[in-house]
Amino acid sequence: MSEGLTLNSPLTAVPGIGAYYAKLLGRLEIKTVENLLYHFPSRYQDFSVRKKVAELVVGDTITLSGQLLKLDAVRTRYGRSFLKGIFRDETGLLNLLWFNQPYLKTSLPLLQELILSGAVEADNNRLVIINPVIEASGDLTHTGGLIAVYPETKGLSSKWLRSKIKLLINAIKTEIKDGDYLPEALLEKFRFSGLDDALSNIHFPKDVSGAQTARNRFAFEELLFLHLATLIRKKEWDGKKTGIKITDPLKKVQPFLDGLPFKLTATQDSSLREILADFGKEKPMNRLLQGDVGSGKTVVALAAVYTLHQARYSSIYMAPTEILAKQHFATAQKLLSPFGINVRLITGSSGKEIEKDLPQADLTIGTHALLFRPVPKGKLGLVIIDEQHRFGVEQRSKLLEGTDPARFPHLLTMTATPIPRTLSLTLYGDLDLSVISELPPNRIPIKTWVVPPEKREAAYEWIKKQTGQTFIVCPFIEESETLTTVKAAVSEFNYLKQNIFPGARLGLLHGRMKSGEKEAVMKEFREKKLDILVATPVVEVGIDIPEATVMVIEGANHFGLASLHQLRGRVGRGNQQSYCLLFADTKESGSITRLKTMEKFNNGRELAEEDLKWRGPGQIFGTSQHGFLNLKTADITDYQLIKITGETAQELINQGPDNFPRLFQKVGRNTSQSVNPN
Ligand code: ADP
Ligand code: MG
Repeated sequence: MSEGLTLNSPLTAVPGIGAYYAKLLGRLEIKTVENLLYHFPSRYQDFSVRKKVAELVVGDTITLSGQLLKLDAVRTRYGRSFLKGIFRDETGLLNLLWFNQPYLKTSLPLLQELILSGAVEADNNRLVIINPVIEASGDLTHTGGLIAVYPETKGLSSKWLRSKIKLLINAIKTEIKDGDYLPEALLEKFRFSGLDDALSNIHFPKDVSGAQTARNRFAFEELLFLHLATLIRKKEWDGKKTGIKITDPLKKVQPFLDGLPFKLTATQDSSLREILADFGKEKPMNRLLQGDVGSGKTVVALAAVYTLHQARYSSIYMAPTEILAKQHFATAQKLLSPFGINVRLITGSSGKEIEKDLPQADLTIGTHALLFRPVPKGKLGLVIIDEQHRFGVEQRSKLLEGTDPARFPHLLTMTATPIPRTLSLTLYGDLDLSVISELPPNRIPIKTWVVPPEKREAAYEWIKKQTGQTFIVCPFIEESETLTTVKAAVSEFNYLKQNIFPGARLGLLHGRMKSGEKEAVMKEFREKKLDILVATPVVEVGIDIPEATVMVIEGANHFGLASLHQLRGRVGRGNQQSYCLLFADTKESGSITRLKTMEKFNNGRELAEEDLKWRGPGQIFGTSQHGFLNLKTADITDYQLIKITGETAQELINQGPDNFPRLFQKVGRNTSQSVNPN
């Protein structure tokens, strides 16, 4: 059955996984057998307590063994159907009920030894278990112990995942064991289990400590890989040379600064100086510019472009979305064209024919499309990547492909995400960091309110009275901009237009719109021809519309604090008081309290620290929407482990990658996977 199955096999090679499931799994970036085995449970359901029927009390979560005596499909007067069963062991009888699982009628055998797990509830005066899990006694997968629960995804049940993962682990156990990439000496030193045991135990733990031991190993290797990848990149970069040395950069940049309608803030200025100092070095710059939302990173980047242009070097500027690329294009035209600097835009929708006719640009701005269009790199001096966490390592290096190795361009990456010290050590150890730590002067802090459901109508009335423009962001429903998200936005838009704001001019923006349509809507909004823009979370990054003063976020509880902060940062950019209204679709007090921290903090760094307290390890920087790092088991606040893994990584590098081929191959595989879509 498993013949020829290896860790690198595509999922369709696994018995029982066809194109349909491969596609669902693909959405989670699970493409190979190995990826599936590393899809770890988010928690475990504890079914380890065994009881007899006669011992049961309401509230028990237990496992029983016995037989199904009866199974009947029942249809209520209102058309609901359910399944009723009676289970027995040697001590008594127990009622069972299943909703929405009619197929069980034919798949569950009567009068055979079965294992049942579930939670005991009261139904009138009798005990009942609703939707129990049942399987044949023997090698248990879904009952009778700690049962893995996987992160929820539409169409992929934990039960299905457990079955397939179990099948795989059994089928290629030897290959897994032989393929362990952690050096023996490390396993011994830290008392980690081998890969086969660790994988078995993380998916099918014998007990809590078994699961924990497995997690310890994976947390260790996760951080180790990050360190190794960073060290490898650093080594690579250190070997690069640039022939692009600029003399007197401070003098060169002055006309640009003199032409600005404002003065740089102190830390914009110091960041720019750090960048310009790098332009005078042998080694190409590899710098991360971090600054809170609205702190003014763009103008610093453009100052760098200007400086290099004075020495006749061109630049490339890549942004994660088309809207953002266009916005940068507009800003660049305004600030650079007066100096005769030739700016052009390349996005997924710009026609190839037109580009061919364009003269080589001094500054090329674009989206991912830049990766697929040949941009002449002969005189390339600087590559800028905005919102760098939205791009994978591979995409970043692809952008640098084709450059003259003897004249490697400088690289400036930018992010609004504050970087905890621990993270900067692991992830960004190869980068130099510049920080813009203040906002431009005269910004009025945004007022944020978590609005309870009973105040919704009042909030709408209040919005109608505002003179500034309003964003209404629909909830984040799924990981990427799927049809579900789009549908929700469209129906919200229609509802608001007809029922709530009939007198206002509303626009709709979502990721599935054609780029021309998006552009038209953004233009109307920018030109104040729209009062309200209803949007999916695509507006998250970078949009700069100073006239917008109200940000309404629906289903705010589905967003991380960092994302909420990003969204909120779309307002408060002009000189008017701005507001952020957060609506939750839950009353759960923990979620509400978490949202209330948004009322207290206006600063990204403080919020990131709060986020760390609220969300479990690995969650904060979890998905592409919420952050940037796919940590499954490790806790990025675990200083001790970060330190140990850092030292270990350095030792392994010193001993030479050639001594650990499997380990370094694995690091390579992981790195190439960490590409974030969007
Ligand atoms: P971000 O850092 O989020 O990318 P932007 O570069 O979009 O921020 O800048 C936000 C706004 O602040 C822009 O409208 C920009 O013109 C303005 N701005 C930038 N620097 C200054 C400054 N020193 N003084 C006043 N306004 C500034
Ligand atoms: Mg920006």
